[in-house]
Amino acid sequence: MTLQTRNAIVTGSTSGIGLAIARAFAKEGANVTINGLGDAAAIEAERAAIEKDFGVKARYSPANMTKPEEIRAMVTDAEKAFGSVDILVNNAGIQHVAPIEEFPIDTWNLIIAINLSAAFHAIAAAIPGMKARKWGRIISTASAHSKVASPFKSAYVSAKHGIDGLTKTAALELAKFGTTVNCISPGYVWTPLVEKQIPDTMAARHLTREQVINDVLLTAQPTKEFVTVEQVAALAVFLTSDAACQITGANISIDGGWTAE
Ligand code: NAD
Repeated sequence: MTLQTRNAIVTGSTSGIGLAIARAFAKEGANVTINGLGDAAAIEAERAAIEKDFGVKARYSPANMTKPEEIRAMVTDAEKAFGSVDILVNNAGIQHVAPIEEFPIDTWNLIIAINLSAAFHAIAAAIPGMKARKWGRIISTASAHSKVASPFKSAYVSAKHGIDGLTKTAALELAKFGTTVNCISPGYVWTPLVEKQIPDTMAARHLTREQVINDVLLTAQPTKEFVTVEQVAALAVFLTSDAACQITGANISIDGGWTAE
């Protein structure tokens, strides 16, 4: 176990990639604050399962990633509860698929808030403690769409490219404080986020469900396989390790070769 003395926050960890990362950190001995939307009983069951399965402390923050003050309070509350925030994972994210000229303004603003600005607020709140302790790990879940674009995903692609820039900037500001800042860029990972965008993509491109999966999603991935949440979580765990202490400002692909093309 490599994270026994560490306390982590993982935003958007009530499902998908975030939940897998939170569980992987807990498996390594970290106390975790999970966060995200969803059914209260289901979230409590996930929180309790982390404590039971791994013998760590797990708490839940209901902070809404559209609300700067709630995001910053999530960090300070976690510091009060566990004594520190050593690891911050900015993972919450949403998607919307529509042509630019039809893209709803409110949805654009929502995606920029959740997928980009939330990371800025959480990082800003976590920095003072990490600087003071001279140790920290900040990881953001970006996307292959932080490196390349696809049509009809203007807000998502813009936000994820923004995460790449925020990561590099924060890495430079924290380089002398024992704190690394990186982002992970998955290709298609089979999670509720992918499942939910299939109907919109079917409509936007006039395709069947099978055509969206095989001819749109997996077309981008030369391996022709979805990435798993466990594989993304294992990369996040590696980035928290001592072996990774010189990796900072990086945008690491885990995309079956998508962005090599
Ligand atoms: P998911 O839908 O399973 O999980 C998203 C999480 O974000 C959930 O916990 C949800 O409750 C939370 N969330 C959404 N809006 C929120 C809000 N306003 N406040 C707080 N939490 C909120 O999706 P996922 O696929 O696990 O996505 C996680 C991250 O990975 C996202 O940033 C996504 O862009 C990124 N990503 C996913 C894929 C993929 O193929 N699944 C690929 C690349 C990048």
